Amino acid sequence: MESFDHCIVGAGVIGLAIAYKLSQKYTNAKILLIESHPQFGCETSSRNSEVIHAGIYYPESSLKATLCHQGKEQVYDFCQRYNVPHKKIGKLIVATNQEDISTLEKIKNNAAKNSVALTLLDQTDCQKLEPQVTAKAGLYSATTGIIDSHSYMQTLLTLAQQQGVLFSPNTKFLQAEKKNNGFKITLNTQDGQYQLQCRSLINSAGLQAPNIANNIDALDIKHIAKYHYCRGHYFSYQSRAPFSHLIYPVPSKNTVGLGIHATLDMSGQVRFGPDAQYIDSIDYDFNDHNQAARKEQFIAAIKQYYPDLESHKLQPSYSGIRPKLSAAGEAAKDFMIQTDNDHNIAGLINLFGIESPGLTASLSIADYVTNKVGHL
Ligand SMILES: Cc1cc2nc3c(=O)[nH]c(=O)nc-3n(C[C@H](O)[C@H](O)[C@H](O)COP(=O)(O)OP(=O)(O)OC[C@H]3O[C@@H](n4cnc5c(N)ncnc54)[C@H](O)[C@@H]3O)c2cc1C
Repeated sequence: MESFDHCIVGAGVIGLAIAYKLSQKYTNAKILLIESHPQFGCETSSRNSEVIHAGIYYPESSLKATLCHQGKEQVYDFCQRYNVPHKKIGKLIVATNQEDISTLEKIKNNAAKNSVALTLLDQTDCQKLEPQVTAKAGLYSATTGIIDSHSYMQTLLTLAQQQGVLFSPNTKFLQAEKKNNGFKITLNTQDGQYQLQCRSLINSAGLQAPNIANNIDALDIKHIAKYHYCRGHYFSYQSRAPFSHLIYPVPSKNTVGLGIHATLDMSGQVRFGPDAQYIDSIDYDFNDHNQAARKEQFIAAIKQYYPDLESHKLQPSYSGIRPKLSAAGEAAKDFMIQTDNDHNIAGLINLFGIESPGLTASLSIADYVTNKVGHL
C-alpha cells in the first residue's frame, strides 16, 4: 500500500494553501492533495466576493481576527511576489442614517483592537471619495482589497506541485481507519477504489468537512461539527462601475453577513451581494420561487447608498454557501480548527466553519495547520 506523510482532503483555497505551506516547510515530506472535482476550487473558493478583508468586525483575539490580520499581509506579499492580479482599492463603509453614524464609532474601535486603522469621514469627504454614493458619514479602510481568486489558487497549486505535492483530482475521500502510526484511507478514483496510508490527515473539505469527519472511524460524534448552510446570492451590474472603491453598508444588528455590498472584480465589473438565506441542503440554484422578491430586496438595500441604481441592469449572477457553525439568529462563531488536543487522535486536523474571511486568512490558516502538524 502506498504511503504518504500527509493527506489533505479538498483542494479549495484552504487545502491548496496548506499543501503549499506544508511542502515549503517540510521539503522531504510526501504530500497528497485530493479533490473530488476534476479541478481545484470549484466550490466555495470560487463563489465568494474575492475581497481581501482588513479584519474589521471580528471579536478581538478570535481566530478570525488574528488569522485575517496575518493572512491579509501574507496574501498581499504573495500576490506581489508571484504576480497574482490584485488591487488594494480600499473600502468605504457608509452610514445612511443617524443610528448608523453612532455605529461607525463602535466599528472603528473594534477594528483598532484588531490592529486595523480606519478613518472616519464626514458627508463631504464621502462625497469627494465616491460622488455617486449617498452617505451621511463613513469609515474608510485603506487595507481592504480585491484579488483574482482563481489565479491565486492556480499559483498556490503550481508552487505546491513544484515543491513535490502530488495533486489528485477526480479523487473522492470515502473513509479513514485509525492505525497505529496514522490512517488507512479509502478513496474513490476514476479507476475504482484505492487505499493508502498516511501519517497525518487534514480535513479541509469545506462544506463537506463534517461528512469527511463522519467517515473517520475513531472520531467521536461529539467532535463532528454541525453545519447550517447559509446561501448568499450575487447580482452583477451591467454598467460601467459607478464606484472606484468597495462600498459596504453598516451591518445591521441582525445581519448574518456584512450586508448587501458592492464589490469590483479585477476587470472593473461591479457585483452586489451577498444576501443571506439559510437552506437545508447544498444547492446553488438561483432560479427558485424567491427570485423576484430577492431582486426587490437587493434594489431596496442598494438604493439606500446608491439611489441612482438602474435596477434593470441587475442580473442574477451566482451564489455561494457559507458553512456556518451558528444557526439562524445565533451569534456568529469562530473558525474551528480541531487537533489532537480537542479529539485526542494524533495526526488528525479538522477545519470546520471556514467561512469569510477564509480566503483572506488562507495562508495564515495554512501556517496554523503546518505548525500543528509539526508537533505530531
Ligand atoms: C458568499 C461568500 C462570500 C465570501 N466572501 C469572501 C471574501 O470576500 N473574502 C474572504 O476572505 N472570504 C470570503 N468567503 C469565505 C471563503 O470563500 C471561504 O472561507 C473559502 O473559500 C473556504 O475554502 P475551503 O477550501 O475551506 O472550501 P472549498 O472551497 O469549498 O473547498 C473544499 C474542497 O473540498 C472538496 N471536497 C469535498 N468533499 C470531498 C471529498 N469527499 N473528497 C475530496 N474532496 C472533497 C470540494 O470539492 C472542494 O473543492 C466567502 C464565502 C462565501 C460563501
